Amino acid sequence: MIIRVRAVVTMDGPPIENGAVVASGNRIIDVGKFPEISARNSGHTLVDIGEQALLPGLINAHCHLDYTCLRDQIPPRKSFADWIRAINAEKARLSAQDYLASITEGFAEAKRFGTTTIANLTALPELIPQIAPPIRTWWFAELIDVRDPNHANGLVDRAVESLKPAANWGLAPHALFTASTNLYRRCEEIAQRENILLTTHLAESRDEMSMFRDRTGSLYDFMKSIGRPMDDCGQGTPLQRFLTARDSSTTLRSARNDKKAVRNEVGWIIAHLNELAESDFELLETFRDKFHVVHSPRSHDYFAHSAFAFERLRNLGFNICLGTDSLATNQNLSLFAEMRAFRRGEPAVSPKETLEMVTVNGGRALGRPQTLGRIRANYFADLIAIPCSGMTNVFEEILAFDQPVRWIMVDGKT
Ligand SMILES: [Zn+2]
Repeated sequence: MIIRVRAVVTMDGPPIENGAVVASGNRIIDVGKFPEISARNSGHTLVDIGEQALLPGLINAHCHLDYTCLRDQIPPRKSFADWIRAINAEKARLSAQDYLASITEGFAEAKRFGTTTIANLTALPELIPQIAPPIRTWWFAELIDVRDPNHANGLVDRAVESLKPAANWGLAPHALFTASTNLYRRCEEIAQRENILLTTHLAESRDEMSMFRDRTGSLYDFMKSIGRPMDDCGQGTPLQRFLTARDSSTTLRSARNDKKAVRNEVGWIIAHLNELAESDFELLETFRDKFHVVHSPRSHDYFAHSAFAFERLRNLGFNICLGTDSLATNQNLSLFAEMRAFRRGEPAVSPKETLEMVTVNGGRALGRPQTLGRIRANYFADLIAIPCSGMTNVFEEILAFDQPVRWIMVDGKT
C-alpha cells in the first residue's frame, strides 16, 4: 500500500512535502517524495489521505491501564502516603472483571489518541491471557512484596508464567518502598536470562526522599506501620539506594567494566526521578546511558512534585520519554495533551524535540531503536495521520492537535 499525504514526518530530518510511505505486511518498505515513491513502487494500491501529516504512531512509555476506571475518583491528597491509602481503598472495591473492563477501555482510549505502542504496568498479570491489545504492548508485571518479602522468587516466577505468552513483556518491581531487595534481584536475574526490560518507580515524591534519606515523614510512618523492615532507611537518597544496589549486582558492573563478560546488560526504564539531591546528579554522571527516564508531566502536576530536572538530565545524556501514568492521576491517555503539559513547564524545548520524546526516544527505551519511533524502511508500519494546513509549522500543529486521531495503522493494519 502506498500512503500519500501532504507531509510525512519521518523524525529523520525535516518533514517531506507531498510525501508517501509504502507499507507491506507489518513493515514500512519505502518513504520519500510521492512522485519518486509511486514510480519505484508500481503495483501497490494507492491510498491518498490528503491534507494530513503522517507521523510515527506515538509511544506511551509509562502507563497503568488497570486504573482507567479511577479517572476523577481521587482528588489530590496532602501527602503521597495519603494518596497511596486512597488508591488502595479504591482498588479494594475492584473485581477482576472491573480490571478487565478498565484495561480494555484504556487500550481503546490510548489508540483513539494515536498511541500505537504502550508500556503498560499491570498489577494483575494473570489477566493478560484474556486481553487482546489493539496496539503494540509491552506488558510489565507490577510486583509488590512489602507484606510478604520472604517469597519474592515465587511472586516473580508466577508473574513470568502469565507474561510469557505476550509478544513483549518485562518486569516492574514497583518501587524501593514496596519491593524488597530480593524482589529487585530476582527481576534482574530473569531480565538477564530472558533478555527482557525492567521498569520501576524511583524518586517520585518528597515523602520517598524523606523516608530513605532522613527516616522521617508520612511515607516512613505508613510503611513502618504496615510492618515493612525499615533498616534500609537513613542510608542515602532513593537514587543512591537504587544505583548502589545495581552497581554491586553483576549486571551493570559486567556491562561497564568487565570486557570478557558476555551477559546481557539489563535495560531499566526509570519512571519519575522528580526528587533528586545535588549529590544525586554527581552519581548520575557515572550512570549516563545506563537507563532511560520517563516523565509524566500531568501526573507530576497532580502531585505537585518538585520541578522535573529535564535540562540537567538531558545534558547528562539521558534518554527521556513521556508517559501518561494512570488515570488515577491524569485526565486522559492523550500523549498530545502530555506533550502540551510538558512544554508548559519547558517552553524552551522545541515542538520537534518534544515529539521525539513520544516517538524516537520511546523506541530506544523499549530496546527497539531500529524498528519503532520513525518512518523509515524496515520500521514497523505503526502510523497516524492528523490534519496539516501547511509546511511552515508542522510540529507546532502536531502538538496543538486535540481531537481523536481518525487515521491510524498498527502493525500494517488500518
Ligand atoms: Zn506509575
